[in-house]
Amino acid sequence: MEFRCIDECSQCCIEREYYPSKKFGKIGVLILPEEKERIEKLSKTNGLKIKIVPRIGISEDKNSGPTKILAYQLMGIEKNGNTCPFLDTDSGDKSPHGGFPCKIYKDRPLACMTYPLIEIEPITFDQKCKFCKEHGTADQNINSEMESLLKIKEKMNTNASFIWRFATKIGEQEDQGILESGWILEE
Ligand code: SF4
Ligand code: SF4
Repeated sequence: MEFRCIDECSQCCIEREYYPSKKFGKIGVLILPEEKERIEKLSKTNGLKIKIVPRIGISEDKNSGPTKILAYQLMGIEKNGNTCPFLDTDSGDKSPHGGFPCKIYKDRPLACMTYPLIEIEPITFDQKCKFCKEHGTADQNINSEMESLLKIKEKMNTNASFIWRFATKIGEQEDQGILESGWILEE
C-alpha cells in the first residue's frame, strides 16, 4: 500500500494530543535544537507569533534539573493547544491533496517530514492519522519519512542518566485542574 494523504485532510497540523499522559498537557510539534533558530526566523519572515517551549531534557544529576535540552516543541495557537501557527487556514489556498497548506512546507520541521511514521523496525504508523485509520499501514512512498525519522532518532539518542519531560499546562478547559507545568523527571 502506498502512503498518500487523505483528500482535504489537515488533521495532523491541527489536532494536538496529551502526551505521555494528560497531566503533561498537550504537546507541540517536535523541534530539534538545531532547527529552533531557523523556525523562529521563518515565523518572523511570515509575520507570525510562535511559542516554542522545551520538550525533553537530560542530566547526570537527579537534583540539578535538565542541563541539556534534546528537543523543543512548537505550540499550537488555540487555547486548547491545537492548530500549528504555520498552517494557512485563511488564504483559501489548498495543499496538493486539498488540505490547508503549510506556510513553510519546504522548510518544515523534521518531525512534520516524518509523520505519520513513528517507528521503522517494524514500520509503524500513528493510528491517529486519517490515512492510517482507513488503511492501517503503508510500505510504499515513505522513503523521505523514514529518512527524517532516522535523523530525529540519531539526534535524540542519549546515554544520559536522567531524562526530563516538560509539562506544557496546555489543554482543554475541563482538564485545567490536572495539568502540570515545567520539568518532570521520567520514572
Ligand atoms: S498525514 Fe495523515 S492526518 Fe496528516 S494530513 Fe495526511 S492523512 Fe491527514
Ligand atoms: S509546520 Fe507545517 S507541516 Fe508542520 S505542523 Fe505546522 S503547518 Fe503542519
